[in-house]
Amino acid sequence: MCGAIRYRVYGEPYYVTHCHCISCRKASGAAFVTWFTIRLAEVEWQGEPMRVYHSSAAVERGFCPNCGATLSYQHASSPGEVDLTVCSLDDPQQLIPEHHTWWSEHLVWVTPTMLSALPVHLRARMGTLPTHHASPKPSDDDIGL
Ligand SMILES: [Zn+2]
Ligand SMILES: [Zn+2]
Repeated sequence: MCGAIRYRVYGEPYYVTHCHCISCRKASGAAFVTWFTIRLAEVEWQGEPMRVYHSSAAVERGFCPNCGATLSYQHASSPGEVDLTVCSLDDPQQLIPEHHTWWSEHLVWVTPTMLSALPVHLRARMGTLPTHHASPKPSDDDIGL
């Protein structure tokens, strides 16, 4: 997010997935995390070194020490590859998620039916409390489905 850490991917990303495991949720604060997998030798890191947190004995989760952005996931059983967050890419839309992982732990309201049944705000929601994520200007671009 802050730009202190940059990376370049040379190989072909594979296994693009939404992970719904509790550990990814806790690490990111989000309902699920979208990852792609790449061979470790095909990533070049630039800038500051990332910090890692062992979320379990076999797992290292990498994040930016400056802004806290969630960056990587490495499991000891797959030493030659690393998962990177799709949304840490400059252009996240170039990768299309292929499946859901750890669906057994997904939040009950994270389903295609529930998601598409909700009203859509193109930007931040305005007008009702709490406003901690509201944008400074009122917007009139809310639309319904
Ligand atoms: Zn996960
Ligand atoms: Zn950062």
